[in-house]
Amino acid sequence: MLTSNEVPRIHPKIAIDYIKCTTPFDCRKCAQVCTPSVYNYESAKMERGKETDKKEPGAWKVWAKWPDKCYGCMDCVKVCPVNAISIKIPKEVKS
Ligand code: SF4
Ligand code: SF4
Repeated sequence: MLTSNEVPRIHPKIAIDYIKCTTPFDCRKCAQVCTPSVYNYESAKMERGKETDKKEPGAWKVWAKWPDKCYGCMDCVKVCPVNAISIKIPKEVKS
C-alpha cells in the first residue's frame, strides 16, 4: 500500500468484475472513497429517446476512467462489498 506522498507515476491496471458489480448506482462506494476521482459511470445500454434505468442490472458500469490518477491506496478494493475490483500496480522501471 502506498501513501499519496509516495505516488509512483505509473498507470495501475484497474479491473472491475461486472458479474459481481451489476448496479453501481446502488452502491457507489468505490467512487466515493477515491480521493483523486479515478472512477466514472457509463451506460452499457443505449436506447434512443430513453434514459437508461440506473436500477437495471448491467445497464450501467462503473469504470476507471482516469487510472493515471490512482496512487494505489487500495481503499476502493477494501470498501467494495462484493470484491469486484482488482488493481495491479506495475513495478517501477528503474532507468
Ligand atoms: S487504489 Fe482505488 S481508491 Fe485508491 S487512488 Fe486508486 S482507484 Fe482511487
Ligand atoms: S464498490 Fe464495488 S460493488 Fe460498489 S460500485 Fe464499486 S465496484 Fe461496484
